[in-house]
Amino acid sequence: MSKILEDTTVYKCRKCGRRADVKVTYAKLLLCGDHFLDYIENRVLNSIRKYKMLNNVRKILVALSGGKDSLSLLYILSRIRNQLGLDEIVGVHIDLGLGAYSDESRILVEKACRDTNIQCTILSLKELTGHTLPELVEITRRPPCSLCGSFKRYLINLLAVELGVDAVILGHHMDDILVFAIKDFLFQDMVDLAKMTPVSTGIQGFLAKKIKLLYEIYEDDLYSYAYFSKIKTTGTQCPFKYMDPFKIAIRKMLDELEEYAPGFKISIARKLAETLGESRESEAIQPCKYCGMPSKNGVCGICNLTMKIYGEPLGPKIRTKIREKYCFTR
Ligand code: SF4
Ligand code: ZN
Ligand code: ZN
Repeated sequence: MSKILEDTTVYKCRKCGRRADVKVTYAKLLLCGDHFLDYIENRVLNSIRKYKMLNNVRKILVALSGGKDSLSLLYILSRIRNQLGLDEIVGVHIDLGLGAYSDESRILVEKACRDTNIQCTILSLKELTGHTLPELVEITRRPPCSLCGSFKRYLINLLAVELGVDAVILGHHMDDILVFAIKDFLFQDMVDLAKMTPVSTGIQGFLAKKIKLLYEIYEDDLYSYAYFSKIKTTGTQCPFKYMDPFKIAIRKMLDELEEYAPGFKISIARKLAETLGESRESEAIQPCKYCGMPSKNGVCGICNLTMKIYGEPLGPKIRTKIREKYCFTR
């Protein structure tokens, strides 16, 4: 992890000898803000090479929630894009209709895309389904985060397929990935555990490949990256935010081990990637008979859910709307 130094008068940057602003504990490095940004970008480039993340990838879709993780990811991508051989980068943000939180997140995403000169697509849940997330929670009585995750995954995958991108880039950092992986292991959820790989292969035509570019980047590194890049992040919180006690306990354990042995999390993340190998989507996945998106039994989760709400599967209509109209801002 990295720690922003409070007293910067004593230490010098290893690279340029100027005042050090940050201590990178796992690498025993003291760096100034500028060299810290370079350092993190190089670590991402190394992950891209090591895990062959962008092999045969020319066009990417970046999922942007508006939080520090995804916005830092966008800035990192924009600063290293010349070294990636990409033809096109498109950002996507889902406006969930969560009041001030959604409004602020959308504005921050639009600004970040303008600053980095990356094309931005905003998909509105209300426009596509007729309801905001709180309204859908009220109607279905399903847990908000599970409902939110289902719609976000569906819409991002659908847009990726319609745009014909080679991969979707996700903003999950190493701390989150390890917490999810350990929880999946404890609950023996091997299907979800298998998804904790740096790259998940897709299925041509209906399931996009997914890449976790921040696989070896600590959450603290992203705080520091956002700070030194002067990235503005949300001051509001999702009204549905829920702290899962299992995840809090696992994170606490990982943080303590990292404190005791700096670099421990990186070793575990590398072992995890090695053990899981390449994630291949199950052959049992097939296109939904209504909308053509991934399903396990011929009807996808969103068509299934919307049939119960509206009496008809909404997938085909959502697909047509996305095909015909998505909002571009630059
Ligand atoms: Fe969605 Fe839950 Fe995140 Fe809110 S906290 S944005 S409901 S996943
Ligand atoms: Zn320096
Ligand atoms: Zn469907």
